[in-house]
Formats: sequence, C-alpha cells, structure tokens
Amino acid sequence: MRDNFVDPSRRRFVQLLLAAPLVVSGGMQPAQLIAAAAAKAAVTPECVDSDEPTPSETAGPFFKPSSPKRSSLLEPGIEGTQIVVSGRVFSRECRPLAGVLLDFWHAGDDGEYDNDGFRLRGHQFTDQQGRYRLETVVAGLYPGRTRHYHVRVQAPRGKVLTTQLYFPGEARNRRDFLFRPELLMAVKSGSGQGSFHFMLDQV
Ligand code: FE
Repeated sequence: MRDNFVDPSRRRFVQLLLAAPLVVSGGMQPAQLIAAAAAKAAVTPECVDSDEPTPSETAGPFFKPSSPKRSSLLEPGIEGTQIVVSGRVFSRECRPLAGVLLDFWHAGDDGEYDNDGFRLRGHQFTDQQGRYRLETVVAGLYPGRTRHYHVRVQAPRGKVLTTQLYFPGEARNRRDFLFRPELLMAVKSGSGQGSFHFMLDQV
C-alpha cells in the first residue's frame, strides 16, 4: 500500500528533523535547521566516490598464501618508482572498519611476480580508523595487462574481497579486459602518493 511506503532518504530526513531541537542551541533558526537537515538527507555516503561496494576481480594465477606481515614491501634490490598507497576500508554504511586484512601482491618493475619467495607481497591490518598504508613501488607491466596491484581484503569474520587497483593515465587501461574505472587509484603525478578507499559489501 502506498501509505506504508517509506523512502529511506525521507525516513532519514524525518529523523534529522526530530533531532533538530537538540541542536537549536547552535543558534540556527528553524528554517535553517530544515535546510541543513534536507542537505544532509540528500547525500549518499560520503566515504567513497560511489555508494556501490568495491567490485571484485580475479586473483589471477600468482596469489600465494602466508605472505609476511608488513606495510612496506621495500627491501634491498627492489627496483622501480617508490609510491605510498593509502586509504581506508568502510562498510556500506560508511563505518570505518578496524582490523581488516589487506594482502597485497604485484609484479615488480621488471613485470615479474616472485613465485619462489615473497618479494612484493605482504599483508597488514587496518587501524581503528579503518586506515591502511602500503609502501611499495609502481607495479610493472607484463604482456596483456595494464599496470595493477592485486589485493585481498577481508574484515574480521567477513567474506574475502579479491580485487585489483589501477593507475590513472595508463595507455593500456583502455585495452585491458579487466580494467574498471571504479578501481582506479587517485595518484597525483610526481607526488609518489596514491590513495584508494574500499567499501565492503558484507561485514
Ligand atoms: Fe597480475
């Protein structure tokens, strides 16, 4: 029945209006309160660019379990352009998720994966604010693929999200059959810094 239908954004709007008297001491007039509540109700989660969860992608053939726990993959002999990739992991409700496992692996500057040892492989856990930070080098290119990192993301007792992260401005992005723009990192050229926020569907 139509009368029973409550649009979630409208419900949120009503909740905000009900909460409004609690903040009257902030000096806002009722009309301002209503405008402020409407503005808040109109927005979808602000934690990531999209309100869709981070899409999954194939792990490919080079995942290896039991990577070392480390946030820096830099070690003697690693060649390539250094980069720090950081970001946060959120639930679909935009709640930062602590203790989320992120297991990264990627090809070196020479386009090779280390399948004998653990070069350019490592796992870490998000902090209380859902943050992670990875020190590594820009992933190398190998035939048939654009530049990418592989990562498995898993909240405590949650499902594993396996996906890949991509670099902006790469000529091969357009031709790569796995490339998805939702998985592009934000990388300021020349800054040595990239960022990507994950949103997990089921936690
Ligand atoms: Fe790969």
